[in-house]
Amino acid sequence: MTNSIDRRSLLRGAAGLVVGVAAGQAALSGKAVASDAFPKLEEDNATAKALGYHHDAKKVEPKKFPTHKPEQFCHNCNLIQGKDGEQWRGCTLFPKKLVNADGWCRSWIKKAGSK
Ligand code: SF4
Repeated sequence: MTNSIDRRSLLRGAAGLVVGVAAGQAALSGKAVASDAFPKLEEDNATAKALGYHHDAKKVEPKKFPTHKPEQFCHNCNLIQGKDGEQWRGCTLFPKKLVNADGWCRSWIKKAGSK
């Protein structure tokens, strides 16, 4: 009897482990799909160039882009998509491309509710 219970407990534990691993893999693959769904926007893309898009807003030259402010980033722009915390995210201006959360372009619009 004890062996039977032990075997059942062991099987339940193994089943739980399998389910947990599968759920973890699904979560990881879901994240990978979200992050890798589209290619990263390239700075030399014609539209990106026209809008002065930079992957790193800290590298925006003030003389060339006088409207840029140090506190402006893609992650606090109203046109950013995706989830907070993701480094590469969609932007409504660049369909099917990902922009860097730390980037910037001339079309930056303060995100609703951000400081
Ligand atoms: S519109 Fe906003 S989110 Fe899109 S690239 Fe420009 S600054 Fe970044």
